[in-house]
Amino acid sequence: MRILVTNDDGIYSEGLKLLAEALADIGEIIVVAPDREQSASGHSLTLHRPLRVQPVREHWFTVDGTPTDCVNLAVHGLLKEALPDLVVSGINFGPNMGDDVTYSGTVSAAFEASLHELPGIAFSQQIEEGFSFADSALLAADIVRVLVAGELPRDLLLNVNFPAEAPRGVRWTRLGKRTYRQTLVEKSDARGHTTYWISGTPEWEHQSGSDHEALTSGYVSVTPLHLDLTDYRSLAESATLRQHLESLGIGEPAPEPAEVAPSPT
Ligand code: MN
Repeated sequence: MRILVTNDDGIYSEGLKLLAEALADIGEIIVVAPDREQSASGHSLTLHRPLRVQPVREHWFTVDGTPTDCVNLAVHGLLKEALPDLVVSGINFGPNMGDDVTYSGTVSAAFEASLHELPGIAFSQQIEEGFSFADSALLAADIVRVLVAGELPRDLLLNVNFPAEAPRGVRWTRLGKRTYRQTLVEKSDARGHTTYWISGTPEWEHQSGSDHEALTSGYVSVTPLHLDLTDYRSLAESATLRQHLESLGIGEPAPEPAEVAPSPT
């Protein structure tokens, strides 16, 4: 069992170190992580400059790029002769729930694993009084042990969040809904030019069965994710919009609506 470990907080983050150590008795650990913090880098890929890899110590490498770069470099370069069986990302400093998974570099590393048909798990930690990366790393290892004990599906993509307090249990959840009041903080720089900080406080809708509900109730949240972002309900049901768009008169006439692709689920 080879496990690739990465993150978006950078190679020197405590969450990464403790996660890698906790997983060490499950398999061979290879760490390929950004050389600095890349939080909120999303699923970004570096295409406009070369990337450099630096060995830090045996089986540990830094990359001057994003978490997605790290997974790519590992899969196509460093580990191409012996691919990892599993990619884990984290443990992130701060939770990654609901819509935030699209901003998250931590979760995007697991997305990237999934694109390479490798199982991927993202781990994130709620940061409030009493949180312990050490305790969460042990729990992360327990979760990985459960997964590798069974058949590890290649399309496995999990988003795990640990509560700050000692967990009351584990909940299998769906992504919650954040009503983020994304605010801009306007400032003036030393030369009198206006600058902006993207800021704001997240507010969550109370949804039963969501990751947010589980975490705020003191449970570890485990959310299965999928990268197919198609809205299958709209694909099947938005007949009027479909008709308007497909009758714009461009090129060939569209097939009959009966040919709508069914949901794969
Ligand atoms: Mn982060």
